[in-house]
Amino acid sequence: MIAKCANPSCPNQFRYFGQGKLFPFELKNPTPPCKDVPNAVCVRRPHRHTIFFWLCRSCAASLTLCFDPHTGVSVLPVPVNAGDAPGQCGQ
Ligand SMILES: [Zn+2]
Repeated sequence: MIAKCANPSCPNQFRYFGQGKLFPFELKNPTPPCKDVPNAVCVRRPHRHTIFFWLCRSCAASLTLCFDPHTGVSVLPVPVNAGDAPGQCGQ
């Protein structure tokens, strides 16, 4: 499912786990239209489904991700003192 770095301007391909950083996001009853969600998942509307995005090592050093099923995944600069928590869209 993960093909490349989630940074749209980065061409790095996902090769194997252990390089870069995986970001899990939990979907709860997603409703169409879905963006960056596999269509098969969106139409099934699972009660819960975890979707993963990946940043390559160089991007993960300075970027984090936020995800909204309607607007898709967004790349954000890593907030200072945020620890490892994924970013919140619009916060
Ligand atoms: Zn990258």
